[in-house]
Amino acid sequence: MDEQFFFYRDTWVEVDLDCITENVKAVKQRLPDRVAIIAVVKANAYGHGDFQVAQAALEAGATMLAVAFLDEALSLRGKGITAPILVLGASRPEDVNIAAEENITLTVFEQSWVTRAQRVLNPDTQLSLHVKVDTGMGRIGIRDEQELRMVEQEILKDSRLQFDGIFTHFATADEQNDSYYKIQLERFNFMVSNLQSRPPCIHSSNSAAALRYAEAQFNAVRLGIVMYGLSPSKDMKQEIPFPFRQAFSLHSKVTQVKRINKGDKVSYGCTYEAQEKEWIGTIPIGYADGWIRRLQGQEVLVDGMRSPIVGRICMDQSMIKLPYQVSVGTTVTLIGSQQTQSITMDEIAEKLETINYEIPCLISSRVPRVYKRKGRMIDLKNPLIPKK
Ligand SMILES: *Cc1c(COP(=O)(O)O)cnc(C)c1O
Repeated sequence: MDEQFFFYRDTWVEVDLDCITENVKAVKQRLPDRVAIIAVVKANAYGHGDFQVAQAALEAGATMLAVAFLDEALSLRGKGITAPILVLGASRPEDVNIAAEENITLTVFEQSWVTRAQRVLNPDTQLSLHVKVDTGMGRIGIRDEQELRMVEQEILKDSRLQFDGIFTHFATADEQNDSYYKIQLERFNFMVSNLQSRPPCIHSSNSAAALRYAEAQFNAVRLGIVMYGLSPSKDMKQEIPFPFRQAFSLHSKVTQVKRINKGDKVSYGCTYEAQEKEWIGTIPIGYADGWIRRLQGQEVLVDGMRSPIVGRICMDQSMIKLPYQVSVGTTVTLIGSQQTQSITMDEIAEKLETINYEIPCLISSRVPRVYKRKGRMIDLKNPLIPKK
């Protein structure tokens, strides 16, 4: 780590933007030319940093971005992103004017939404819309073909509304068994066949489907988890047809090193008791950083060796059992690699009995994100230009 960074606590996330770029390029290479990549950067790009990931993905050939909420799209616009942005989730119909002004595409998920939007939308404006079809996810979207036809009519009749796309979302694309996926795809094809006109952008695939099912690629895919270098599921880990690299790593530094004696206790509740003379290191990361208390016992890397977290994780600090006396300032890697050892996102997910998606989202905004390109830290304000 260089010293030029702007934070005063030695705990940080490193995001290697070259991984993002390579992962997007590898997917793009496998897609037919007609299939565009929509880079999914919702939730601050799965905790990686929306602006930086968006720039890296666009540079690698993505042509559109997707977020969950209008606020996320507006935040990207505020940071200078001019590429098309689709809001995948439900926006309030009262907010259509701000979306139109900022050239942000919204999702129509029921007919009454269109009616309410039409009431408030300014004259002489253009609002780009994608229609969401619920083919079996049961979340948002139009389920009925008659309603879909009526929505299409309403949009086509209104000169302020642009029918730019139609899409759906799969519930099981990452699973071994493809029977439910097939039912959803068939339903989507049926719904699309009910349209009077085909909008320019038809998309159904998340990362899993994009890699697995050519017949579901239509003319765009929505790429999330694989762009970050993570597998959509355990089932799919062996299947991904290119070497993809995890972009996110989490690090800290030892702030104090102490020798404790047999019988000495560590942290709240005295749940840990030394069995012999031991070296204990304190690191400045805790549950307020998203490094939650359930991670007690999880190993971290120090000097390329695995060392367990001992005692309760506190709000801002944790203690680890060191392999030997290390110096204060030694780097501790909580997610990522040191020498020959690595702790993957999947290992942390397994420990927490959850999916890898949840882990980078969990690491809170108190932990600064720093960005790497070509192995070097880059200027945050200008992530595409490496610092000399
Ligand atoms: C989050 C999301 C995606 C991205 O899914 P991945 O599995 O991360 O590729 C795609 N489409 C929709 C509708 C989503 O909500």
